Amino acid sequence: MTYSILILGGTAEAKALAGRLSVHPDYEILLSLAGRTKAPAVQPVPVRIGGFGGVEGLARFICERGVDLLVDATHPFAARISRNAAEAAAATGTDVVALRRPEWLRQEGDRWREVADIAAAVQALDIAPRRVFLTLGRQELLPFEAMKQHHYLVRSVDPVDPPLDLPNISYITARGPFSEANEIALLEKHAIDLIVSKNSGGTASVGKIDAARRLGIDVVLIERPRLPEVASAKSVEELAGMIAQRAVSVRKRGE
Ligand code: NAP
Repeated sequence: MTYSILILGGTAEAKALAGRLSVHPDYEILLSLAGRTKAPAVQPVPVRIGGFGGVEGLARFICERGVDLLVDATHPFAARISRNAAEAAAATGTDVVALRRPEWLRQEGDRWREVADIAAAVQALDIAPRRVFLTLGRQELLPFEAMKQHHYLVRSVDPVDPPLDLPNISYITARGPFSEANEIALLEKHAIDLIVSKNSGGTASVGKIDAARRLGIDVVLIERPRLPEVASAKSVEELAGMIAQRAVSVRKRGE
């Protein structure tokens, strides 16, 4: 019996989950990417790329492909696709599970200022000139054009094109994960004294948070958006276990 799984990805965890599930002979897996990066990471399972066309498009895709299980393994700040996934699953009566990686928690030595969203992060930079490290997506970077007094270092997977309208800015392209040692070296090289980051959680990008603590650097940390409440796991391992249980119960019911 084939168990059809659609993984909504774009994260290192989605790739790891796909790799884990791919060895199972009964699973037919398709990984979906939004298509944001020019050269997406190589994946261990078949991939489709691009939006579905909202809730209706995703619901249609689920029905046409005969998806048994929808897995939301997208980034915690990708709130729209997570909402669409929950709504499309409800509309089609499809089982859905999500990876909800825990957020980073404040530790002794952290110099965090937590803000609700990008707009509040920009406002938090309404201060004397600093040397600011930004690790955000292009759409999220644009509002920082309002704060021209700072020196910026921007890191992204693809080049920021067109460049931002800021007088003092350097760009680097790199794909994580980034170790604490790597981040310390980078922060020191560019004499960074403030980081703006999303509270992404997980291990792939925590290096900069650990490095900031070690170096006593300020962090403006953007809080998580609200995500829909669906059955969820905190780790790839836990999620793989949940999926296995669901596949077994479907097999027992003989669906
Ligand atoms: P978003 O705002 O939640 O979604 C915007 C639209 O992009 C969705 O409505 C959907 O289009 C499409 N989409 C998003 N993820 C998709 C997927 N896995 N497969 C197919 N279509 C997808 O998403 P976002 O914040 O722009 O993130 C886009 C992708 O980058 C996600 O896959 C996410 O995991 C990854 N990512 C995001 C961040 C972040 O900070 N936001 C960080 C790292 C990786 P339709 O409505 O047309 O279906």
